[in-house]
Amino acid sequence: MTENLQKQHGKGTSGPETGLTPLVLADGVRKWFGHLEVLKGISLSVSHGEVLSIVGRSGSGKSTFLRCINNLETYQDGRLYVAENLIGYREVNGKLRALPTRAIVQQRRHIGMVFQQFNLFWHMTVLENVIEGPIRVLNEPRETAVERGRELLIKVGLGDKFDSYPMKLSGGQQQRAAIARALAMQPKLMLFDEPTSALDPETTGEVLAVIADLAQSGMTMVIVTHEMSFAQRVSDRIAFMEEGLVNTIATPDAFFGQSDNKSLQRFLATIH
Ligand code: ADP
Ligand code: MG
Repeated sequence: MTENLQKQHGKGTSGPETGLTPLVLADGVRKWFGHLEVLKGISLSVSHGEVLSIVGRSGSGKSTFLRCINNLETYQDGRLYVAENLIGYREVNGKLRALPTRAIVQQRRHIGMVFQQFNLFWHMTVLENVIEGPIRVLNEPRETAVERGRELLIKVGLGDKFDSYPMKLSGGQQQRAAIARALAMQPKLMLFDEPTSALDPETTGEVLAVIADLAQSGMTMVIVTHEMSFAQRVSDRIAFMEEGLVNTIATPDAFFGQSDNKSLQRFLATIH
């Protein structure tokens, strides 16, 4: 699996070693829901091929930040770029002007997102779920979409479930189908928002294994998770978000070695 994914998503010429600008660049991103400021100036970057995990307490703004990256929420201040495109806006004389829907759809098609709830189309088979986007959004010929869809489903371990309906699958299988569906769009960036939080421990492992494989393959990913040992294992860096800010962002070793970071230690104590 890894080898094939590597071919598809390999770092190639766009790897971090080429010194290109980061794939994701957040610079002082702020967002309010009404009067509630939930992102208070998020600044971070994700290099091509990098795996960034984001951890933090419930309500700290992790999902909102991911949703901003994918244009599912709008931020109101700061700048957020994916592949050098300013997300959601164009800048005119230093002011942000909202992009038309068409442009937003264009930005979103390069970003895959996997949610806690699996968000499959229930009236479609697993294979139909996976080929829907490539056919409708990417205008791929049906045969091409089917061929790649089957390959992806085999890679996530669902080679025997092409014609099953999502309802007949376990939670872990549904989530793996959702991952295959996102990958079918050939995204530059994959976002995961607590992909295993709705799963039991048994199926959690099989989903994490698929995500770990993808990490190995060179896919650029941002993963919001409570699975600390998983984050430690697969991430290039881990960010700790607290009350709408990035408290710290560091390599796994440095991250878990911050014994003098009281906020982080308090958070980690609630997890273990
Ligand atoms: P996390 O994912 O870290 O748990 P969220 O990004 O979901 O945090 O939420 C951050 C804050 O924004 C919380 O206070 C939450 O209640 C609030 N929030 C999230 N979504 C909405 C919304 N659609 N409307 C109003 N408030 C929201
Ligand atoms: Mg959340």
